[in-house]
Amino acid sequence: MPRLETKLLTPDQMADAVRLLQAGEVVAFPTETVYGLGANALDTDAIAKIFAAKGRPSDNPLIVHVYQRSQIHQIAGPWDSDAGKLMNAFWPGPLTLVLPKQEVVPVSVSGGLATVAVRIPSHPVALRLLEESALFLAAPSANVSGRPSPTRAEHVWNDLHGRIAAVLDGGLCGFGLESSVVDCTEKPFRLLRPGGVTLEALQACVSGVIDGSSAAASDEAPRSPGMKYQHYAPTAAVTLVIHDPQLRLLRARVETAQSLGQRVGAMVVSENVALVPAGAMVLDMGPRDDLSRIAQSLFHLLREADAYSLDAVFVEGLPETALGRAIMNRLRKAAGGRILNGHETQGADER
Ligand code: AMP
Ligand code: MG
Repeated sequence: MPRLETKLLTPDQMADAVRLLQAGEVVAFPTETVYGLGANALDTDAIAKIFAAKGRPSDNPLIVHVYQRSQIHQIAGPWDSDAGKLMNAFWPGPLTLVLPKQEVVPVSVSGGLATVAVRIPSHPVALRLLEESALFLAAPSANVSGRPSPTRAEHVWNDLHGRIAAVLDGGLCGFGLESSVVDCTEKPFRLLRPGGVTLEALQACVSGVIDGSSAAASDEAPRSPGMKYQHYAPTAAVTLVIHDPQLRLLRARVETAQSLGQRVGAMVVSENVALVPAGAMVLDMGPRDDLSRIAQSLFHLLREADAYSLDAVFVEGLPETALGRAIMNRLRKAAGGRILNGHETQGADER
């Protein structure tokens, strides 16, 4: 693809971002989840540029970002009244709903499916961009496909400068993990990807939402095409160590890797920093009880592993409830199957 002169814009330069988007270019912008790589959702040429810039597989559909609820019937519907309840309860915010798609939505946006994923973000810069451009913006995470998602403008720059028209810098993303994705086209509704809105919060709003994202559910054909791809991974080999409260297994693995001459990192909660063997780089996730902070720092820490040229990173597992579900979902994918279980024979694979 031709090399572009990527502009780094501040929110004061919103008009430049609007002009580029209206001209069919791709612009990265901040949202409350992660940075999005936006383009006019109804312009197939603009959408093709998103896939090219990211190297994203063409059957992995995009989320369409919308300014306000009254516009949604233009691209999606009809929907069940329970989907309306979720919209009322969680929009604007980190919840994406999969709905039947209208004809105008290009097949490249829907990955060839008859459905479209829609969300109203809450980030003020994202909302201004949607309002001032008067566009529907299709926007996947603004990283090279497979890499950790970007939570700072510099992450986007490192991955995509020269490949997109501009990056709109809105500082640090507030939440730091992608939106929850709920399929509302069939009852019971299914959580396809855990994210900013927890399963518990969804179930409290609408009865019968089921978890379609867990390890058990992954034996079925994936409903969310993105579920089948490797994700969120730095170059360093990530190993997730679960059920290991004293970090016995994690420490043993760190020491073994060090003895092989590897540069090793340990990503642990603040309370366990002192347990990390000498010489290993500490990637401090934050206090155990502050899951919001852990979520916000997660992708940055995975990128730090590459900034320090680590060969291997061992990550402490967390309980899989509430926000822990979204955090562990990303860590499992970053680990790509390298999961060790402290409850089992030392070194046994979880699978
Ligand atoms: P990203 O854009 O990188 O945040 O990923 C968007 C996620 O939403 C991916 O996992 C997609 O597979 C999923 N998604 C988008 N559209 C649909 C759809 N129509 N049906 C099911 N999942 C979808
Ligand atoms: Mg992504």
